[in-house]
Amino acid sequence: MGVPSKLLSPDLAARARALRHDLHRHPELGFQERRTQAKVKEWLTAHGWDAREVAGTGLMAERAGSAGDGPTIAIRADLDALPIRETTELEYRSVHEGVAHKCGHDGHTSIVCALAAVLDTRLASLRGKVRLLFQPAEEGATCGGGGGRVMVEEGALDGVDQVFGLHNWPGFPKGEVRVITGTVMAQEHRLAFTIRGRGGHASEPQRCVDPIAAGVRFVQSLYALVARSVGLGGGAVLSITEFHAGTANNIIPDRAQLTGTIRSLDDALGERLAEQVRHAVTALEQSTGVTVDAVVERAYPAVVNDPGATGRLERAARRVLGDDRVSSEGLPLAAAEDFAYMAAAVPGCYFLLGAGDPVGVTPGCHHPDFDFDDELLEPGAAVFLAVIEDALAR
Ligand SMILES: [Zn+2]
Ligand SMILES: [Zn+2]
Repeated sequence: MGVPSKLLSPDLAARARALRHDLHRHPELGFQERRTQAKVKEWLTAHGWDAREVAGTGLMAERAGSAGDGPTIAIRADLDALPIRETTELEYRSVHEGVAHKCGHDGHTSIVCALAAVLDTRLASLRGKVRLLFQPAEEGATCGGGGGRVMVEEGALDGVDQVFGLHNWPGFPKGEVRVITGTVMAQEHRLAFTIRGRGGHASEPQRCVDPIAAGVRFVQSLYALVARSVGLGGGAVLSITEFHAGTANNIIPDRAQLTGTIRSLDDALGERLAEQVRHAVTALEQSTGVTVDAVVERAYPAVVNDPGATGRLERAARRVLGDDRVSSEGLPLAAAEDFAYMAAAVPGCYFLLGAGDPVGVTPGCHHPDFDFDDELLEPGAAVFLAVIEDALAR
């Protein structure tokens, strides 16, 4: 795929790949990444980094360059897997039923481990400090979520001048960097509804308050609400992702449970939509006779890239990948990311590393067939190293 520099020696590249496959085989959910933490710690120790535990199952490690004082640059990876059953036939497929690395965090972690190995031999030419952050629990509310926030609360970003993080992204051409200043990932509201009606015999709907009928109407009203509230380029999405109800074909159930998410590119719009969802709940209760327990709450804030850190990332990425492989096309994304907490604490830059499928034929992140592309280990580590050198080279 024509990445110009060969940063990783054949031996290191093979070891980083083996680490990635080992993490993939043993996935762990948010705040349960004990084995993953131990494996990463072992790798870091073997390459001269003294890692300490943070945020429960996370790690941080810092080393100073020997060329004098300078800023502190932090590089962040995420450790957790998702509650999904893996459907691949990979030789290193998950051995934990119902848990799998389907977002590529096994790859992100291995990229930063490869970087740690390279840095071990390059500290003599650097000033300042490099801090490596491995955060637990990036994935959303269903998985605990918010490890990035805990990292910040426990001081993992204290003294950091700039923080950088990446995500592999199957929607962008392989090995290309996509980055913008300002909002790069959306803010999220988490939605959960329990619709309570009155159940009964399927043959007598007139004696029931049907929560399924109310739920269907509710979903349609929410989708209409977004269509009529967000103008051209307004930047918001609402999706209902779970709808559970009923036990048999001849029973009208007494409740339905729905969950979903709102993603928006600015706080005001997100809050306005959340308020309208609350109004839609009241309207549903009044028009159908159901009662609704509603959770409409802010989850991750938007990821906002700092101009200075983004300028540095762009410059570094162009240097190692070439001008034609760095752009802002396709951004911002409606996905949410808890790197947001780090980028709110200190100036930061979050970028996407294309995984090579612009037309969407291969499975994207969170699909049961998804697998991280090992060919991204090299460019991922190379871009991070270039950022560090841009900031800390003597
Ligand atoms: Zn994910
Ligand atoms: Zn992810």
